Amino acid sequence: MGEKIEIRGARQHNLRNISLDVPKRKITVFTGVSGSGKSSLVFGTIAAESRRLVNETYTAFIQGLMPHYAQPDVDELRNLSAAIVVDQKRLGGNSRSTVGTVTDTYAMLRLLYSRVGEPRVGPAHHFSFNDPEGMCTDCDGLGWATRVSLDELLDRDRSLNTGAIRFPAFEVDSWYWNLYAQSGLFDNDKPLRDYTDEEWHHLLHGPARKLKVKLPTVGGTMNSTYEGLLPRFKRLYLGRELDQVPAQLRADVARIATAGRCTSCAGTRLNEAARTCRVRGRTITECTAMQVSDLAPLVRGITDRPVAPLVTALAARLESLVHIGLGYLSLDRESATLSGGEAQRVRMVRHLGSSLTDIAYVLDEPSVGLHPHDVHRLNELLVALRDKGNTVLVVEHEPAVIAIADHVVDMGPGAGEQGGEIVYTGDLAGLRAAGTLTGRHLDRRQPIRTQVRPATGWLHVPHADLHNLRDVDVRIPTGVLTVVTGVAGSGKSALIRGCLPQHHPEAIIVDQTLPKGSKRSNPATYTGLLDLIRRSFASANGVGAALFSANSEGACPRCQGLGMIYTDLAFLETVATVCEACGGQRYREDVLRYRLRGRTISEVLAMSVTEARAFFTEPALAARLAALDDVGLGYLTLGQPLDTLSGGERQRIKLASELGRTSQVYILDEPTTGLHPHDVAKLIVLLDRLVDGGSTVVTIEHNLDVVGRADWIVDLGPGAGHDGGTVVFFSMATSFAAAALGAEGLAADVTML
Ligand code: ADP
Ligand code: ADP
Ligand code: ZN
Ligand code: ZN
Repeated sequence: MGEKIEIRGARQHNLRNISLDVPKRKITVFTGVSGSGKSSLVFGTIAAESRRLVNETYTAFIQGLMPHYAQPDVDELRNLSAAIVVDQKRLGGNSRSTVGTVTDTYAMLRLLYSRVGEPRVGPAHHFSFNDPEGMCTDCDGLGWATRVSLDELLDRDRSLNTGAIRFPAFEVDSWYWNLYAQSGLFDNDKPLRDYTDEEWHHLLHGPARKLKVKLPTVGGTMNSTYEGLLPRFKRLYLGRELDQVPAQLRADVARIATAGRCTSCAGTRLNEAARTCRVRGRTITECTAMQVSDLAPLVRGITDRPVAPLVTALAARLESLVHIGLGYLSLDRESATLSGGEAQRVRMVRHLGSSLTDIAYVLDEPSVGLHPHDVHRLNELLVALRDKGNTVLVVEHEPAVIAIADHVVDMGPGAGEQGGEIVYTGDLAGLRAAGTLTGRHLDRRQPIRTQVRPATGWLHVPHADLHNLRDVDVRIPTGVLTVVTGVAGSGKSALIRGCLPQHHPEAIIVDQTLPKGSKRSNPATYTGLLDLIRRSFASANGVGAALFSANSEGACPRCQGLGMIYTDLAFLETVATVCEACGGQRYREDVLRYRLRGRTISEVLAMSVTEARAFFTEPALAARLAALDDVGLGYLTLGQPLDTLSGGERQRIKLASELGRTSQVYILDEPTTGLHPHDVAKLIVLLDRLVDGGSTVVTIEHNLDVVGRADWIVDLGPGAGHDGGTVVFFSMATSFAAAALGAEGLAADVTML
C-alpha cells in the first residue's frame, strides 16, 4: 500500500536534478511540450536503471556476455520494478516475423491443428514455416522465391573467355570468373549455346568439389570450392532482402532476378502435409489469412473437449487484438509492414497475456494512429495492465488518455535548456487548476477554419484498389490542406501513401522512417548545415574542410567518428557505449584544436538549434536553423544521431528541410506524433505556410485540432479492413463540420470542436 518508485537527483540529458515519487500499481501519465524531458526521465532514467539492475543480478560470468548499460545520471532510485519498454520501434524487418509469430497466436494455432486437425499431421512444429519439418522447401518458408532470368544472366552467344556471364562480380579475370574458367569442366572458348546438357548442368547447378585456383594477378594459388552459378547467386545475393545486397550490385541483382509468390506452396510457406490439414473445413493458412475479427469467433466455436483450455487461451488473445482496434489485421501479415503505433499495440497484447505481475510497463504515446473513437479501447488495455498489479508509465499528449491517469507528472516549462523540471505532479483535477501549459491546453481547441482556401486544381486517383480499398475514385484538391481521416485500418495509408504517389509520382512523402545510414546522420548532416559549418571552420583556420567531417579525415580512428562503439549482440538489441578514445567527441584530437569564434567543431555539434541560432549569423546557416526551430525542434542538438530521435522528431526534421520550397505536393502521416497541443498550434502555422507558398499538403491525421484547420476532408471507412476501404465523406471542411451534426463516426467527434 502506498508504495512508490522514488527518484532522487535525476540529471539525464536536460533534467535539472529533479526528485519525485511515482506511485506503484497505478497509471502515471507524463506530459509536457516536446523536448521538455519526458523521455529522458521515463526511458533514459527509470527504464534504463531498471534494465541495468536486472543485468546486475546475473553472475559475473554471464554479465561479461551481456550488454553493459551505462548508469543513468541520477543520485538514487528506490523501489524500482523490472521495466518492460513497449515503444513504437517498428517490428523487425525479417519476413519470417508475422503478427501471428509476434503475438504467439500462430504457435497456439499450430498446437490446435496438431491436436484436432484432419488428416492428423503430428507434432505442432510440423505446422511451423520456420521449422524444416513444416516449411515449404522450395522457398524455405518465406512464401516468395526469386527466380533468376538466365537470359539476363548469360549471353549464350559468348564463351566464358569472352564474357558470357553478364554480372559485375563475374566479369573476365575476376575472382569468381576464375572459379569457373579454371574448374576444368568447360571449354573456355566454347559459346554457351553449344554446351552439352552436362555442361549446362555443371555451369548452373554443380557439382560441389574442391578446387585450387591460380591467382594470375598476385601469383600463387588458393583453395576454393566449385559451386554452380544458381546456388552461388542464391547464397550471395538472393537469399536476402534487396537492401542487404551491396548498393553497387542492387541494380544488377534486380535485373537478373524476379521475386514472386512461391509456386510450390502458393505463398503459404508450408509444405503439403501442413497445407492440407483442416480444422472446421479450413486449412491453417486460410485461418492466418482471415481478419482477426473473423478468426476470433471461429476459434471460439471449436468445442472439442481435449482442446478446451487452448481454445479459450487463443480466442482470448485474438479478442484482445480485436479489442485494441487491430481486428483488421491478419495473422500472416508481416510485422515489418506494421506502422509504429500498430506494432506497439501488437506488443501490448502479448504482454497482456503474460502472467508476470509487478512489472513497470513503459509506453511511448500509445494513442498514435488511433482514431479518437478507439482511444477508449487503448485506455481499457492500460487499465487492465494496471489491474493485474503492474505499474504503468505512459508518455502521452492525447487528452483522452491523460483523462484516465491516476497520477500526472507534467514536465517543462519549455524544451531543452528551458525544460527539465517538474512543473506539476498530482491528480488530473489539480493539473487543470495548476495553469501549466498542459493544464491550459487540456480542454482548449484550435478554432475551426471558417474561410477555406480555394483549390487550384485536382489530383485524380482513379481506381484505387490497394489492400482493402474498394476501387475508389478520389479527387484531392491542390493548393490547400487536405486531412484524411478514418479509423485505424480504414485504408488511409493505402490511399495516401500507396495509391496517390503511384498516380502522382512527384508527391513527396514526409514520413517517420529513418534515412539510410542514420547512425551517421544527425540534424546537421541531414539539413546540409554541416557542410556550411565545415566551410566556416575551414576558412577561419586556413585548413581543408574535410578535416571537420566526422565521416572521413578528421574522424576519431577508434569509433570512426560515431562517438559511440556499437556492439551487435545477435539475439539482444545492439548496445551503444561512449567511445573511450575521443570521449564521444567523434573527432581526432588535433582537429579539436581548431576553433571558430572560440568553439571547437565538437562543441558546435553539441549546441542546441536555439543556441546555434545565436552563434551563427551567416544567412544560409541562419535560414536552416530557423526552419528547424519553426518545426518545434529548437531543443535538439545539432549532432544528435537521427536514430536516437523519435519518429515524430524525424518527420519534422524532414519537414524542416522542405521549408522554403514552393509548389510541391507533400504527403504526411500523423505529423502531430510526439507533439504537445502547444506545439500542434505551431505545426499548423507551418502547414499553412507551405500551402500559402503554393504547395499542396495531404495529411493523415487524428488530431482534432488539425482536422479543424483543414480546407478539405477525405473520410475513409466506415470500418477497418474489409469493413473499410470506401470514401464515406469528402468535402470542404466547413460543410464537414455542418454535416457532422447528428452523423456517426468521426463526424460525431468533430461536433466537439
Ligand atoms: P521529451 O520526451 O519531453 O520530448 P526528451 O527527454 O526527448 O524530451 O528530450 C529532453 C532534452 O534532452 C532535449 O533537449 C533533447 O535534445 C535532449 N536529449 C534527448 N535524447 C538525447 C540523447 N540521446 N543525447 C543527447 N541529448 C538528448
Ligand atoms: P489506415 O492507414 O487507415 O490505418 P491502412 O491503409 O494501413 O489503414 O490499412 C488498410 C487495410 O489494408 C487494413 O486491412 C490493413 O491490414 C491492410 N494493409 C495495410 N498494409 C498492408 C500490407 N503491407 N500488406 C497487407 N495488408 C495491408
Ligand atoms: Zn514455397
Ligand atoms: Zn571515438
